[in-house]
Amino acid sequence: MRWSKTFIPTLKEDPADAEVVSHKLLVRAGFIRQLSRGIYDYLPLSLKVIRKIEAIVREEMDRAGAQELLLPIACPAELWQESGRWLVYGKELIRFKDRHERDFCLGPTHEEVITDLVRRIVRSYRELPLNLYQIQTKFRDEVRPRFGLMRGREFIMKDAYSFHVDVEDCRREYENMFQTYKRIFSRCGLQFRAVEADTGAIGGSRSHEFQVLAESGEDAIVSCNKCEYAANVQKAEIKARRPAGRDLNENSPKREKVSTPGKKSVAEVAEYLKLPAEKFIKTLVYRTDKNELVAALVRGDHEINEVKLQAALGCGEVALAGEAEVEAATQVSPGFLGPIGLTLRTVADLSIQGMRGAVAGANEPNAHYIEVDQERDFTPGAFADLRLAVAGDSCPRCDEGFLESYRGIEVGQVFYLGKKYSEPLGATYLDTEGRERPIEMGCYGIGISRLVAAAIEQNNDSNGIIWPFSIAPFHVLLLPINYRDQALQEAADRIYQQLQKRGVEVLLDDRDERPGVKFKDADLIGIPLRLTVGVKGLEKERVELRWRRDGKTDEIPLGDAAQTIHSIITQSLQA
Ligand code: ATP
Ligand code: MG
Repeated sequence: MRWSKTFIPTLKEDPADAEVVSHKLLVRAGFIRQLSRGIYDYLPLSLKVIRKIEAIVREEMDRAGAQELLLPIACPAELWQESGRWLVYGKELIRFKDRHERDFCLGPTHEEVITDLVRRIVRSYRELPLNLYQIQTKFRDEVRPRFGLMRGREFIMKDAYSFHVDVEDCRREYENMFQTYKRIFSRCGLQFRAVEADTGAIGGSRSHEFQVLAESGEDAIVSCNKCEYAANVQKAEIKARRPAGRDLNENSPKREKVSTPGKKSVAEVAEYLKLPAEKFIKTLVYRTDKNELVAALVRGDHEINEVKLQAALGCGEVALAGEAEVEAATQVSPGFLGPIGLTLRTVADLSIQGMRGAVAGANEPNAHYIEVDQERDFTPGAFADLRLAVAGDSCPRCDEGFLESYRGIEVGQVFYLGKKYSEPLGATYLDTEGRERPIEMGCYGIGISRLVAAAIEQNNDSNGIIWPFSIAPFHVLLLPINYRDQALQEAADRIYQQLQKRGVEVLLDDRDERPGVKFKDADLIGIPLRLTVGVKGLEKERVELRWRRDGKTDEIPLGDAAQTIHSIITQSLQA
């Protein structure tokens, strides 16, 4: 392609609303423009990257035995009512009525639609297993769309769904997809980790996320420094510990009420009493989806994991209760709440069990207790694993390891669904003995457009994007210093033709711009190789080959340029 005929609207300045580097660079380098919050136009360069990612995904999915189809974006509400998700999915599901007042939604994911298709067609065990996938636009009315393509409202997803006669075959396919995902993300040139994950709104009982490691990632993940264990902190287990042995006697310190005027947060009280945060018992009040107020206790230096809290309480979504409702229920401000004498149902984190010499709110204004002894002073309704894992925790799987923490961008997730959708929707098959059985299911998603952003988060420098070869919009940028100089133009055109003949994806910067502008734009859009044709070089029959990633340059003979570049690209794509 010739730059002068390509739609690449680069900008000199970062867009004002962009917080992360991929968002800034995608806009500045002319890859995307925002149409509405979380809704983007994909310009020619980003569409090329998307098509490359899609091609890798298709190749690997097909190789793994899956088949591509395409389902509608507009989904009738009835299916979502059958699965029960019409009520529970919340505002992320965008709903509308057609002219006949029938309810529809734009598909945020397609378990219902595909299960409906399969239940209408599959009759016998002979037609299974099946793995069907699509690459399609999804819509989720996210509360906080942000970071450009990372969290959009409209985005491109590859979603696959598999159907099996039994658990064993479904597990086999889960493993097949797991390995397929590893190949896909490796081929995209990304550094990633597969981590154990919570199943969220999709449901099911077993799940892994594929996380691209990046500081800007929205997910916190932990992994063991000794064994293979890795998990999203939402899911990460805490190693069970034995509570400290007891030796309480009459000399043990007595519980004492101390004044803590206006000191509410753990940090404030810790500073005031000169005691470390890990000595504190934090009391947090949550409202459950059944409208009950419950108190959750964690150590002062720990954070509640709401997913674990929901599991411990056996309820759906929980939300931190507001100050006013806590005061109305307990007659004390949340800052001075504590477990002793509290009338709410209480669950405590495992680390609270057997705690001694602790500090907790006294359930009256401006006062805390010190020297609290859990076993002597209060008994919560239950103990459970309630907290988020943190770096330094012991590994829950092996005996020696400790957890390290990272930030990650979730680019894919695989789920073992079991009968979660087949049962309510009645997707069954007849087994070898003619008995009707529910189909076992799995599902597997990849955020194609998010992957574009994730690749940039991992591959950039202060001058712009550095595309991995396999997903770059072009492989080489051919840059004549001055395209109006006849000799330079002839040389550049000749190399351009030779490259095209060899099937090399080349962008020729034939614009009438100063060399400085061209070099800046070249770095910004991030094509892996740059071939510069200049006056001095041409006199020696040489051109300059420069690698975008490390800035390394080589002078290569003009006559060999196309061949040299072709073999570099072939090698890089095989690597
Ligand atoms: P998240 O936790 O980031 O909201 P999710 O777990 O809800 O994502 P899935 O239902 O697992 O998402 O969807 C499959 C894939 O689609 C995700 O792994 C992610 O890469 C991508 N994805 C999900 N939501 C978005 C979004 N709002 N914008 C871009 N990509 C998304
Ligand atoms: Mg997910």
